[in-house]
Amino acid sequence: MLVLISNVGSTSLKFKLYDMPSEHVLCDAKIERIGSLNGIYHYKNDENDKEHNEHDIPLKDYQSGINLFIKDLCDKELGVIQDVNEIEAIGFKTVISKGFNGTVELNEEVMKGMKDYLFIAPVHNAAYIGAIEEFKTILGSIPMIGVFETSFHRTIPLKNKLYPIPYEWYEKYGIAKNGYHGASFTYIANKARKDGDYKYIIGCHLGGSSSICAIKDGKSYDSSFGFSLQTGLPHMNRSGDCDPYIALFLENEGLSKEEIIEGLAHKGGLQGMSGYNDFREIEAAAIKGEQRAKLAIDVFVNDIVRYIGSFYAEMGGFDKLVFTGGIGENSKLVRSGVAKALECFGIKIDENKNNNISVDGYISSDDSKVKIQVIAANEELGIAIETYNYINSKKNA
Ligand code: ADP
Repeated sequence: MLVLISNVGSTSLKFKLYDMPSEHVLCDAKIERIGSLNGIYHYKNDENDKEHNEHDIPLKDYQSGINLFIKDLCDKELGVIQDVNEIEAIGFKTVISKGFNGTVELNEEVMKGMKDYLFIAPVHNAAYIGAIEEFKTILGSIPMIGVFETSFHRTIPLKNKLYPIPYEWYEKYGIAKNGYHGASFTYIANKARKDGDYKYIIGCHLGGSSSICAIKDGKSYDSSFGFSLQTGLPHMNRSGDCDPYIALFLENEGLSKEEIIEGLAHKGGLQGMSGYNDFREIEAAAIKGEQRAKLAIDVFVNDIVRYIGSFYAEMGGFDKLVFTGGIGENSKLVRSGVAKALECFGIKIDENKNNNISVDGYISSDDSKVKIQVIAANEELGIAIETYNYINSKKNA
């Protein structure tokens, strides 16, 4: 069964066409700078290694990007299919929709639920709503499936997700911890348990958005992400956990709601602390001795350590620590800082392995009580599996 996965960013689109259930990738594409006159396009036929790359192309909207990709997908030389209708479903890594969770068909009600939650996931929901509407215009005959990022966290027990606020707010508005990064942690939970019986895993997805997930018996038991994407660890430009009274205090000081949102949701996080919006630049500045960059890394590492410690205590065990995401996979500095701070738990990192790891593998020393593994994120595969299972169960119903 051919399943197309699309990862939507606010100015980018990524595609992967899978043959399921073999998990074989037929082709992939990446379109960047949508909405500009200098767009970047990359397409690769993974069967015959033929590529199509373009720079500085006008990309007015998502439709322009989708059309570029479809042309190559069905092209005689570059393509892997003859007609788009050979694709049985398109799966999306959707974020959150009011009243819906799990893996669902993206019908009118689900799309309305996504619009209703625009405020708590402004960047992500707006991008998905815009892109899915354009997908429907061009590829409306193919079923479109949303695999919600909150889905993996439905197993979090109420005691770990209820906020100490008036209970009616939970009942009336559904205010409780949602957890996000579900596609990434679904993949981690499966992959990390392939080579052993690991009951207690703590996963660190560290990237543009970052979160920690406590995985007990393969299921989400807690997440550093709360109700909105504005919570948990410091993100690249979103604040993460913050005393809610800071916003009210600033309002009293005369700042407008828009200014407060701008500071917390666009100019906060690692960027707010350091002045840089790419972790590589923050590391380089810290190595050169810039105090704010050093401080931003210290705060980030310390927050990761605090969550890991509390999730260890909450689960009552700790067998494996996993790093994934752009920072988790690449920053030896962060991995080393976190592991060293956790030595009191019997965690020991092998610095040689940590410095030399290329893609996936273990970086703990042989006598470490807790194994430390780096796993390259593969959210697309998680979505492809969920989409395939959904279509299959519908066929067999
Ligand atoms: P997103 O959450 O947007 O999908 P990624 O998981 O791709 O983001 O992570 C992006 C982050 O990873 C960027 O801040 C980038 O600087 C960081 N990163 C990528 N490569 C490295 C590296 N070699 N060292 C440190 N940080 C890195």
